[in-house]
Amino acid sequence: MSRVNIKRAIVLLVTGKAEPLDRIEDNFWQVRSPSLVFDVPKQIRLTLAGNERLWKVPPVNRREVLRRDHYTCQYCGSTKNLTLDHVIPRSKGGKHTWDNVVTACDRCNARKGDRTPVQAGMPLRTQPKAPMHPVVTFAEQFWREQQQQNLE
Ligand SMILES: [Zn+2]
Repeated sequence: MSRVNIKRAIVLLVTGKAEPLDRIEDNFWQVRSPSLVFDVPKQIRLTLAGNERLWKVPPVNRREVLRRDHYTCQYCGSTKNLTLDHVIPRSKGGKHTWDNVVTACDRCNARKGDRTPVQAGMPLRTQPKAPMHPVVTFAEQFWREQQQQNLE
């Protein structure tokens, strides 16, 4: 029974029709879409390791941002001499938040300077956002693998 629910949850999560909410009771996670509310049973939650059960969005710091960006400059793709860059510079009111901090190599950081990506003509490779809950990450990976298998 949990398999059916998990699959359904994955579809909704990956198609963006649902989002995981915080744990609202001990027994399940609740997943909501505009027309549906359903409960992902305990078994899923129990597959998470101790720390992950109490997961919350990590702080915006070098270690976590580099990890999110797979240790890759978000402007040129370099994996060397990595620094953090504020997409909207702090001097222009940019905040130190997950959607405004990216990994950048020191060359790109220097080249971009005190400008926005548009001003600098340096588009971001991906739109920065906060790391996702491990359940969602798992669901997305699972779904990608399913799709790849279907293509083969
Ligand atoms: Zn770079």
